[in-house]
Amino acid sequence: MADVWNDEADVVVVGYGGAGASAAISAHDAGASVVIIEKDSGGGNTRLATNAFVCPINNAAAREHLRILSSGATTDEIANSFLDWSAKNTEFIKELGGEVLSVTPGPTFAHLAGSETMLRFRVKGPSGERGGASLWNLLSKNVQQRKIRVQQEMPGKNCCARETKLSGSRQTETEAPFGVALIKR
Ligand SMILES: Cc1cc2nc3c(=O)[nH]c(=O)nc-3n(C[C@H](O)[C@H](O)[C@H](O)COP(=O)(O)OP(=O)(O)OC[C@H]3O[C@@H](n4cnc5c(N)ncnc54)[C@H](O)[C@@H]3O)c2cc1C
Repeated sequence: MADVWNDEADVVVVGYGGAGASAAISAHDAGASVVIIEKDSGGGNTRLATNAFVCPINNAAAREHLRILSSGATTDEIANSFLDWSAKNTEFIKELGGEVLSVTPGPTFAHLAGSETMLRFRVKGPSGERGGASLWNLLSKNVQQRKIRVQQEMPGKNCCARETKLSGSRQTETEAPFGVALIKR
């Protein structure tokens, strides 16, 4: 692999795990050119995860549940944004061609008020496959189908949401006028 790599895209996604793959797919489908830079080979913790993802019912009880769960450490704005978007998780998975299965037991924090809204699902995969692997296989397949560029073994450094230039340890220079930078050193 070359020591110097230059690229430019509307959106640069740093980190090719579940969040990065989802961001890249969404940006691509909204019409942006996208490049993903990944310090390893991709998959991250997402590929290793055990089982389920949350797709909550978006209502006042769910907001109360998140408020209690975060013990005041998360602003309402962030919690509400999490709720608005995570409530679309199963819809997103189906749009990508996946099949969702309801998971029992239900909420992780069942003793907290509003936990009944925290519905859990997994992506259907072959028998015995971890839910994380099934999710990752679906996401990475969709990234490949869209021909989204993935630059592996390319750690992003000095990334900041409002900067348009990202740099990597191997003299990477990546420009992203509408950049998504998920990492700050
Ligand atoms: C064993 C295990 C079981 C789990 N089980 C569950 C579960 O059942 N349900 C659940 O909801 N959650 C579970 N989790 C947590 C879940 O896996 C994570 O919350 C989720 O995968 C985070 O997704 P992500 O995309 O943010 O991070 P990741 O999937 O970890 O992806 C981050 C990616 O960014 C890359 N990266 C990091 N820094 C840089 C950099 N500077 N430059 C370039 N690339 C970089 C990493 O190499 C990685 O590929 C589990 C986690 C583990 C480890």
